[in-house]
Amino acid sequence: MSDTPVTVWIPGDQLLRAHPAIEAAESRSGRRNIRIVLVESDARIAQLPYQRKKIVLILSAMRHYAAALRERGYLVDEVRAPSFAEGLQHHVAQHRSQRLVTMAAAEYETRRFQHETLHALLGIPVDVLPNTQFLVGQYDPFPAIEPSQRVIMERFYRAMRRRFAVLIEPDGSPTGGEWNFDRQNRRPLPRTVAPPPPITFEPDAITRQVMTDVDARGSGVGTATGFALAVTHAQAEAALNDFITNRLAAFGPYEDAMSATHDVVFHSMLSPYVNIGLLEPLQMVRAAEEAYRTGAAPIQSVEGFVRQVIGWREYIYWQYWRLMPALRDANAWNAMRPLPRFFWNGETDMRCLRHVIKRAIATGYTHHIERLMVVCNFCLLAGIRPSEVNDWFLAHYIDAYDWVMQPNVIGMGLNADGGLTATKPYIASAAYINRMSDYCDGCRYNPKQRVGPDACPFNTLYWNFLIQHETTLRANPRLGPAVLGLARLDATERAAIMREAAGLVEGL
Ligand SMILES: Cc1cc2nc3c(=O)[nH]c(=O)nc-3n(C[C@H](O)[C@H](O)[C@H](O)COP(=O)(O)OP(=O)(O)OC[C@H]3O[C@@H](n4cnc5c(N)ncnc54)[C@H](O)[C@@H]3O)c2cc1C
Ligand code: SF4
Repeated sequence: MSDTPVTVWIPGDQLLRAHPAIEAAESRSGRRNIRIVLVESDARIAQLPYQRKKIVLILSAMRHYAAALRERGYLVDEVRAPSFAEGLQHHVAQHRSQRLVTMAAAEYETRRFQHETLHALLGIPVDVLPNTQFLVGQYDPFPAIEPSQRVIMERFYRAMRRRFAVLIEPDGSPTGGEWNFDRQNRRPLPRTVAPPPPITFEPDAITRQVMTDVDARGSGVGTATGFALAVTHAQAEAALNDFITNRLAAFGPYEDAMSATHDVVFHSMLSPYVNIGLLEPLQMVRAAEEAYRTGAAPIQSVEGFVRQVIGWREYIYWQYWRLMPALRDANAWNAMRPLPRFFWNGETDMRCLRHVIKRAIATGYTHHIERLMVVCNFCLLAGIRPSEVNDWFLAHYIDAYDWVMQPNVIGMGLNADGGLTATKPYIASAAYINRMSDYCDGCRYNPKQRVGPDACPFNTLYWNFLIQHETTLRANPRLGPAVLGLARLDATERAAIMREAAGLVEGL
């Protein structure tokens, strides 16, 4: 065991209970020779006008993490600095560290910083250990595949289920007899069903101080007031338990349902926690699987949730590392319009967008279908530049990080990666939003009209998109039926749609 002082740097989205960098440093140098550093970087916080509740979440969770490590007997240095570089330099100089150990960041730029800058900056050896926050770090189902080749999520997901033995019977078959219960999971929310809202947590003194500090900075989306998220492992586990007990059973059937009244519907609202290490993916799916085995939740819900966590989430991370850095400049539909100003205050007559944007500003959360089929659908149909949409999401959401945003927004939501993430563009007219939500009731627009002063803009833009991209869309077998609908439009209707769509996007 070496006696030289070693620093372990833990970025704020890596608050794992068992952190591999701490374990590695401790077994090499012994607990008394290591010092753990957490850096609050002003530059990182100011990179975008981030959702204030997200900044509170990260800073408060970091401070609680530091306190918990101290209680376990570790030496911890909490540094506030203009940048990560300056914070680490200061720490290393002050404590005369001879080595730095860290775990590879989930995000591209921070990982580059760890690999390419840190050693020269600090003048000491730097060990960057593999990231353990994702299961694909342990097992890559398709290691040899080229970035230009498409791997559909379903293939990836089944490989993960098999490898980690999740919802797999002893004979290797999928539990419940099917791999996928999606067909049963597309119900709108009946008016008589009131989903129980997620558990909330009273801010303690540490969190209250962070809330005051964040609001005092004066920048960022929304307000810290009303922050009630989990900031410790125990609280995040209580949130997981709350979901498993109170919402998982109905998660599947209402997974795609949208509601003007119920923010979370039956979703888990666990992404803010798993993305910063307060929960881990296998822990989440094992808890759901257990609920199925004990009869507390049906297979369609449990499989639906498992698919999100070890299917979509892992796939998205895998795609990110395959497609970066080219992904951030992808713009397959050549969308060049700026983001409308109403995205920053929600002031639009389109009731669905108004609700979703205002909810994102106020809470930092809207569920998956609202992100995909309301916000991204609109931006794709209206031809908004992907990088601007990406930044909007990054700024507004409590669970937003570069690794999850780029494949979801640029890949899945806007189909700007040429179809490498999703096999078809997720576009829909008002008919879909009307079927899956209560937004259209009471909207100033008519979800049944395509043109005219009351026509829903989603309709005008949807049909215009089909007209503009008819040839490309026809080549996609998954969109055949939608494009065939164009045959029912005569030349006069086409001209009216194109004229009104042009007016609409000009007006944005
Ligand atoms: C345009 C767009 C932007 C998105 N931005 C983010 C984001 O910033 N951060 C984020 O974590 N997720 C993002 N997602 C994915 C997904 O919408 C959220 O993970 C989910 O809505 C979080 O809410 P929940 O915890 O209630 O999820 P649930 O519906 O309860 O799902 C369970 C878990 O599955 C995981 N998950 C499901 N789908 C995805 C996915 N496509 N990518 C990654 N994880 C997934 C999440 O960890 C989530 O907590 C985005 C999706 C789209 C289409
Ligand atoms: S009518 Fe159109 S704009 Fe209004 S809520 Fe429905 S889909 Fe949204």
